[in-house]
Amino acid sequence: MIPAAFDYVRAESPDEAIALLTEHGDEAKLIAGGHSLLPLMKLRLASPSVLIDVGRLSDLSYVRDGGDHVAVGALTRHRDLETSDLLGQQVPILAHAAGQVGDPQVRHRGTIGGSLAHADPASDLPAVVLALGATLVARGPSGERTIAARDFYRGFLESALEPDELLTEIRVPKVAGAGWSFQKFNRRAQDWAIVGVAAVRNNGASGVALVNMGSTPIFAQGVVDAMAGGASASDAADHAVDDAEPQSDINASIEFRSHLARVLVRRALEEAGG
Ligand SMILES: Cc1cc2nc3c(=O)[nH]c(=O)nc-3n(C[C@H](O)[C@H](O)[C@H](O)COP(=O)(O)OP(=O)(O)OC[C@H]3O[C@@H](n4cnc5c(N)ncnc54)[C@H](O)[C@@H]3O)c2cc1C
Repeated sequence: MIPAAFDYVRAESPDEAIALLTEHGDEAKLIAGGHSLLPLMKLRLASPSVLIDVGRLSDLSYVRDGGDHVAVGALTRHRDLETSDLLGQQVPILAHAAGQVGDPQVRHRGTIGGSLAHADPASDLPAVVLALGATLVARGPSGERTIAARDFYRGFLESALEPDELLTEIRVPKVAGAGWSFQKFNRRAQDWAIVGVAAVRNNGASGVALVNMGSTPIFAQGVVDAMAGGASASDAADHAVDDAEPQSDINASIEFRSHLARVLVRRALEEAGG
């Protein structure tokens, strides 16, 4: 399990990282915590010829009050999300879900930017930012642009980021006082979700998103529409699979996954006050 040979360069600033991406093009990959990219490289499912290390860009590691939102730097590690007082007060579902990612070692290395950019449908945080309606900030050679979380996921391990763009910030709406729930079903503690659900209920509006129920993180529009139409949590949960394309794997058949999604959506809506 040894990766193919690669060159390594450490970026000293976000601008240098973007310049290096521009210079090396498709051959290059950013590396932040390395907890998703390195396993792929060891399996030879990814073979970048240049690794651009952004893991020490401390300028992009922060949790700040942005007025109507909390601004989270893309290099913020899961552990810092989990223990952030600001997130605990204003966006508790994100702090809680970050505390459910892997084990303490993973949470001390992995970053929110890496988790979102990796676009793994089995990851926890993409569903949370979808349910919250967060905005992602990307910076490239021609400047900065914002991308709604709903527009960010394009396919399996595929995001809306261009090859020369760096994800720099995640803007998460403040939802202090809102109902929320994060349901993660796994067979072993600290494991990936077989199915997960993030739900937020704020002033009568809902955001619900699913983990590991398709090739991308899924926004459960059918559930949200049912809730908006006055359905009970139980009736809305019948729509849990409307927008999903569950796959079978070693952990669950399509039928079991679909059943889990309905049960977990109902529980999430009830816990969030649906
Ligand atoms: C044993 C183990 C258990 C895990 N369990 C879970 C779990 O239960 N739930 C869960 O959600 N995750 C889990 N993970 C994944 C973990 O959360 C990773 O840390 C995370 O998915 C990726 O973050 P990273 O910083 O390590 O990214 P990296 O591996 O460094 O990068 C991942 C991808 O994102 C790109 N990237 C990184 N940063 C940026 C950026 N700022 N801009 C643009 N592109 C960028 C890289 O080029 C690469 O393609 C687990 C990982 C391991 C090893």
